[in-house]
Amino acid sequence: MISMRNVDKHFGALHVLRDINLEVPKGQVVIVVGPSGSGKSTLCRTINRLETIDSGEIAVDGVKLPEEGKALAKLRADVGMVFQQFNLFAHKTILDNVMLAPVKVRRLDKAKARARALELLDRVGIGNQADKYPAQLSGGQQQRVAIARALAMDPKVMLFDEPTSALDPEMVSEVLDVMVQLAKDGMTMLVVTHEMGFARRAGNRVLFMADGQIVEDTEPESFFTAPKSDRARDFLGKIL
Ligand code: ATP
Ligand code: MG
Repeated sequence: MISMRNVDKHFGALHVLRDINLEVPKGQVVIVVGPSGSGKSTLCRTINRLETIDSGEIAVDGVKLPEEGKALAKLRADVGMVFQQFNLFAHKTILDNVMLAPVKVRRLDKAKARARALELLDRVGIGNQADKYPAQLSGGQQQRVAIARALAMDPKVMLFDEPTSALDPEMVSEVLDVMVQLAKDGMTMLVVTHEMGFARRAGNRVLFMADGQIVEDTEPESFFTAPKSDRARDFLGKIL
């Protein structure tokens, strides 16, 4: 579903992605961990071309990433992304936040978009908040709206970049529970997170990144209990 071949990326003199090779099959949930600055966010952002790459090739569902134009807009619609900051439209209701892109980009009929948005808000447990504004919701609720908004586009892949790290601790699990359910429903997911409980519950695979490289690529259980590299051991020693 996601394929990266020999991907390289620099920011000026900084080599942020070094020869990344990655195949994520449909339905797989891949957890990405690693020290700050190792390139996790950049890796995510290249998959919907929020960042360009210097060389190599990225494909989603067999389609090579288009450079621009309508083809790129189509690809972006297929790749949902949820960030640490929820980025909701503050002046729009929760319902409008979720309906907006399907109507504008997918050209979905408004009544259908509304029905679908309400269904998704129910699915993430906030169907009763549809007419409120983002500021009236807790962080955990806002992040669940952000997930519903991404799902409203019927993406083939969901990318999550530290979706719970801006949340108060008591709100983390309500967001992770939604993500676990999404994983159970068969969504293909790439999740940057240091939430080990989630990685063990929902992850099929852990990528450990350091200095722009994938240093380990293994099952969650063996990564957390028996990391192979010194760097991974060192990293786990700091986060556990
Ligand atoms: P964190 O855990 O702190 O989120 P990360 O693993 O997500 O880190 P990235 O955000 O991918 O790391 O950044 C990788 C490196 O690239 C860092 O050194 C960062 O400072 C640098 N970097 C990221 N974005 C840019 C940019 N737009 N311009 C220049 N350098 C950048
Ligand atoms: Mg990051």
